[in-house]
Amino acid sequence: MCRGTLTIVSNKKPLIKPSTAYTCLIFVVLFGLSYLGIYSRLAEVHNEQHWLLDELVHAQASALERLLSRSLSSTYILAQEVRRSNGNFRDFDKFAAEVIKSLGGISNLQLAPNGIVERIYPLAGNEKAIGHKILIDDARSKEAYQAIKKRGLTLAGPFELIQGGIALIGRNPVFLEKDGEEYFWGFTSALIYLDELIAATDLDKLSAKGYQFQLSRIHPDSGDLEIFFGSEVNLLPHSIIKSINVPNNSWNITISRNSEYEFHVNLAIAISFVLAVILALLLNRVFLEPERLRKKVNQQTRALEQLAFHDELTGLANRRFLTEKLEQEILNLKRHGRHLAILYIDLDDFKRINDALGHDMGDVLLKTVADRIRDMVRKSDIVARMGGDEFAVILLDLKGADHARLVAEKIIENVGCPITLGKHEVVIGSTIGITLAPDDSYEIGELFRNADLAMYASKRAGKNHYSFFNTEMQQIVTEHLLMEESLRQAIANNEFYLVYQPIISLDTYQLQKFEALIRWRHPLNGEQSPGDFIGVAEETGLIIPIGYWVLSEVCQFINDRQQKWPEVVPIMINISSAQLKDVNFGHRVEEIINASGVDPKLIELEITESVLMEDIDLALQLINQVKQLGMKICIDDFGAGYSSLTQLKKFPVDTLKIDRDFVRDLDDDPIDRQIVEAITAMVHKLGIIVVAEGIETESQLRFLRQIGCDSGQGFLFSKPLSADDVGRFDYPVSISHTDRKQSL
Ligand code: C2E
Ligand code: MG
Ligand code: MG
Repeated sequence: MCRGTLTIVSNKKPLIKPSTAYTCLIFVVLFGLSYLGIYSRLAEVHNEQHWLLDELVHAQASALERLLSRSLSSTYILAQEVRRSNGNFRDFDKFAAEVIKSLGGISNLQLAPNGIVERIYPLAGNEKAIGHKILIDDARSKEAYQAIKKRGLTLAGPFELIQGGIALIGRNPVFLEKDGEEYFWGFTSALIYLDELIAATDLDKLSAKGYQFQLSRIHPDSGDLEIFFGSEVNLLPHSIIKSINVPNNSWNITISRNSEYEFHVNLAIAISFVLAVILALLLNRVFLEPERLRKKVNQQTRALEQLAFHDELTGLANRRFLTEKLEQEILNLKRHGRHLAILYIDLDDFKRINDALGHDMGDVLLKTVADRIRDMVRKSDIVARMGGDEFAVILLDLKGADHARLVAEKIIENVGCPITLGKHEVVIGSTIGITLAPDDSYEIGELFRNADLAMYASKRAGKNHYSFFNTEMQQIVTEHLLMEESLRQAIANNEFYLVYQPIISLDTYQLQKFEALIRWRHPLNGEQSPGDFIGVAEETGLIIPIGYWVLSEVCQFINDRQQKWPEVVPIMINISSAQLKDVNFGHRVEEIINASGVDPKLIELEITESVLMEDIDLALQLINQVKQLGMKICIDDFGAGYSSLTQLKKFPVDTLKIDRDFVRDLDDDPIDRQIVEAITAMVHKLGIIVVAEGIETESQLRFLRQIGCDSGQGFLFSKPLSADDVGRFDYPVSISHTDRKQSL
């Protein structure tokens, strides 16, 4: 049963190329490392800056604390003086001026007996505050009472002053004694303008240097955080806060710095990203280049190996690979006692299909056959194309001869299934020769020879067939070798001679031509007919010198006869394929004809139909060459080959000889009768003369005359005659063949 071949080609590709994956991996590692490196360095710098800022904030907080406590200490000094003067503080202005001058940082000093501002130094600009009743002023009373209650200094503010400006006021309650009883005298106060306090610190300078700061406190009434002073620019992240101890409250100072930390972090990410990309690409190149080169070299090596060990057309192994593999396998055979079989496969008539349909189609056919053969064996077996239309299979681990037989049968059956080539459907036969190892030999050369011999034996047995090698085949080869030697000697010793068989007109029974047929008088084996030696002569190429000898001999014969009978009939000469393949053929024929002086019209060359079809172009070229010399061309054994009548049109043929096999069966086989009739009718249309060969009976003759066959050749008229007998052959023959036969 014929089976199709299904080839599934996998197109699966990896999602990501390994080299891309490597590059990505390198990138991730490098990016991570460089980011970590830069980030840790930045973090270090950041920590350092944080620490410095912390120090700075600490210093500013201490400075403010110090300034405030120094300025507020003035209230103690004043209180001391009030107590010393028992509430009768006369030289307040002079004293206050001294205190302000020596302590600094104080805007004015006040005395508020009973909580009413009575004295202010300096007064200028502060007049409005005189008479201010602190204990009943909602905005001030809370801290004032707190001071009395605490019997200690309180700091009020910052707040807006009645006389304008934002200030802090430190109030110290003064208690005096009268009659052994302590009573509240009033307050000694020191007013400090906030901006003057700030001006006494470095905060403004820091602000100019890119620092931001804020002073805040918890508002005594609302309990909310109140920012009471700050730089123009708001605080930035990563600020540092420190508390400042002030009487009855706590302030906070917060400082931040224009830090480019965020920017640097982003820059670090960007730089490490770019660096990582560049490095990854570089490393990819550096590390993967050798790998890439190695792959390329491997690829090219594989491609070269493919070229060196594989057949380009079919993808099968080639002869070289097969031979090397066989060498190894033969060693295995010896070691492990295994068996193998070599099958030589030759396609039948491949050349004919190749010539007829063109080389492209021939290639498709070879590929199809290659696939089919491959399908018939196990994966472990080896299938090779040995060249042209020859294939070989090595069956490894052979179970026995039957295994090889089975495979051969399957190959013949499968290869023989119809193959579609374009618009045509062709069927190709295959012939197989099988040899077994080690049964037949251990030696590769011998095994190949055996397989070849077996294949040729199969061909001789009728193609589309398989044969196992046997020693008889060797015998045949030996005989062939002996025959070759004898043939060489035969040429040298002039052992060949020609006989001539008449060709008679079936219409007039007149002699038309003779066919020259070779004979060999073997010194030991006696008379040899062409069937015994032409094959060997063709295989060995000896047919080429023999063929030129035949032509010369025929020319000689014509010359001899012309001396006796000026009107001689043409002589037909058989030409085999090997002769046509001789590049000098046309030239040599011309030389021989010219040398003999024979009229080329008297010579007609017979070429078998199969020879014609073997290489149509070459045949056509030679035929034209020969025709130009004036010779005629006859197609011999027509019908035995495969050519069609349409192909015949291509050749400028003069005569066509219907194969003897058709004529032989004319009496019994109606199909053969129909074929011969059809051939005759059609060939006549091409203007070609039809000759029937092998006419042996009257009934064959009658039929052939009936269908209008032009001429005949056969034992009915005459067996081939020796050159001497030709002279005695009486012609023209009489009209009645029967009479003629009797006269012979
Ligand atoms: P062919 O060219 O077809 O020659 C016709 C063959 O048929 C001859 O056989 C001839 O003797 C035989 N024959 C003729 N009439 C009859 C008949 O009525 N009955 C039978 N049974 N046979 C008949 P032959 O001489 O043995 O030649 C065989 C073939 O050898 C030829 O077939 C031709 O192909 C080849 N051959 C003969 N001489 C030469 C030659 O000089 N050169 C080459 N290349 N081939 C030759
Ligand atoms: Mg012939
Ligand atoms: Mg013939």
